[in-house]
Amino acid sequence: MIEGMGDWSRTHGCGELRKEHAGLEVVLAGWVHRRRDHGGLIFMDLRDRSGMVQVVFNPEVSEQAFTKAEALRGEYVVTVAGEVGIRPEGTANPNLATGEVEVYARDLRLLNVAKVPPFYIANNLEVDEALRLRYRYLDLRRPEMQRLLELRHRTTKAIRDFLDGRGFWEIETPMLTKSTPEGARDFLVPSRLHPGEFFALPQSPQLFKQVLMVAGVERYFQIVRCFRDEDLRADRQPEFTQLDMEMSFVRREDVMGITEELLAYVFGRVLGVKLDLPFPRLTYREAMTRYGSDKPDLRFGLEIKDISDLVKNSGFRVFAEVVGRGGVVRGIRVPGCSTYSRRELDELTQLAGTFGAKGLAWMAVEGEGIRSPIVKFFASGELQSIRERMEARPGDLLLFVADQEDTAASALGALRLEIGRRLGLMDDGRLAFAWIVDFPLLEYDQEEGRYKAVHHPFTSPREEDLPLLDREPLKAKALAYDVILNGVELGGGSIRIHRRDVQEKMFGLLGLSAEEAREKFGFLLEAFEYGAPPHGGIALGLDRLVMLMGGRETIRDVIPFPKTQSATCLMTGAPGPVTAEQLKELHLALRPSK
Ligand code: ASP
Repeated sequence: MIEGMGDWSRTHGCGELRKEHAGLEVVLAGWVHRRRDHGGLIFMDLRDRSGMVQVVFNPEVSEQAFTKAEALRGEYVVTVAGEVGIRPEGTANPNLATGEVEVYARDLRLLNVAKVPPFYIANNLEVDEALRLRYRYLDLRRPEMQRLLELRHRTTKAIRDFLDGRGFWEIETPMLTKSTPEGARDFLVPSRLHPGEFFALPQSPQLFKQVLMVAGVERYFQIVRCFRDEDLRADRQPEFTQLDMEMSFVRREDVMGITEELLAYVFGRVLGVKLDLPFPRLTYREAMTRYGSDKPDLRFGLEIKDISDLVKNSGFRVFAEVVGRGGVVRGIRVPGCSTYSRRELDELTQLAGTFGAKGLAWMAVEGEGIRSPIVKFFASGELQSIRERMEARPGDLLLFVADQEDTAASALGALRLEIGRRLGLMDDGRLAFAWIVDFPLLEYDQEEGRYKAVHHPFTSPREEDLPLLDREPLKAKALAYDVILNGVELGGGSIRIHRRDVQEKMFGLLGLSAEEAREKFGFLLEAFEYGAPPHGGIALGLDRLVMLMGGRETIRDVIPFPKTQSATCLMTGAPGPVTAEQLKELHLALRPSK
């Protein structure tokens, strides 16, 4: 029979009980993890948020509690009153924090029953993620998921404490707003009161935080939900959380410095891990040439080497011609893999191909010699210089891509990661933070035939590059910075434009007419005319941060209620249809689907 808590008050969490509690009368509450019947005794593992403890029902202690316990099943909700005792010699469980004690039940109340759950509430669950998301409340009941929920809470708490100590104010900005361009599609909300008009959900609070700087706030932060309607490639979510920050009267170094200190504080307080400051810095160019990525995984070396100068006059026409046409020949060393099979080489060639590389050349270093289908095209002096440049050792495999610079960089960058994975070079628990700086301000979009901002349109060029905007805009470098961790972009930001004339010039370069600029961003341009201080900031992806801190592979594990890869919620069924009445109020009509 289901009862209430009555006049019972819980005294302890299940996971808190230790030897020193022996002899204490306690009241516990939680879920039945498991029940075992054993020679006239019933053993129950009782689980709550704090952990698990063994409860023993003995008819000699309480006939009534024993009888009630006979009806218990997994995930039933109960409260138990009893005495803590030391487990008999030889029955302690070293795998359980409470393994030295047990609770002798005097009384039991059944608070609720439960259907047989679709999966067992335990870590190391081998079950389809769709099932976990459909029954997220059961999934979140698992200790590992509870650990992650708590980790996220501890992390945001540490962030707030640190920033409060540094004079930042947490300020909320609107969710119903106008479009802020961060390069993705907006989620739109139709306005009932203004037929035919729409709010956009913020892709970031970028414009509001800049306006807050004009408002004299000086130091702002917000732990804020952002919305981007992208196709969910990779590990993205349509709504995600950022730690968003902005500061006035700062240089790039100030923002980077405080971000490093923040991360060091959070890792120290939450994980007890000490970070080495300052983080190393790489220019965008260095990152691309040495690692083939603007977010290189720096837990391991295996740098990409350029051998264009060594092969441009060689007898190997493919290499010589690519260099002659302005391309590059670059390579990577695969330590100890000179015996890779045909199939393994094919796999790597295929991977390079997905990044546009037309082929992959290889050389196996065997003692003093080199085995390779192309070895005959090179003079022995050339081979020797290649070995030296590649820092090759006997037993190594060398892989080369000859192509346009961008293609060679990204193909070798992908190969480098794949080799790092195959050789287990990423598994040492290291935290490799770094800054990437000196990004170009603009890139040219061939398809649309116009410039695009690499970070966003509000990013300032370096002061000395301002004149370049008129002459050679692609040469201008941005005062932008990305912080990376183990090959993941953790966040990015920039020093902003704070002058109306410069911002207008930037909009012009991006192909916005003066009218469009005024229509979309007039309020910002106007604000800049009323004493806008120099300012800059950054946003960190909170989901990614917690994922990395928690040692997980996907941000879905650290978002309590995530969407699937196809942007649906399997628990609530969102998105779903609305009534004709709702549509009418919103002045919307649906086109019949074909
Ligand atoms: N608003 C930028 C973003 O969401 C971050 C920043 O520039 O502060 O990526």
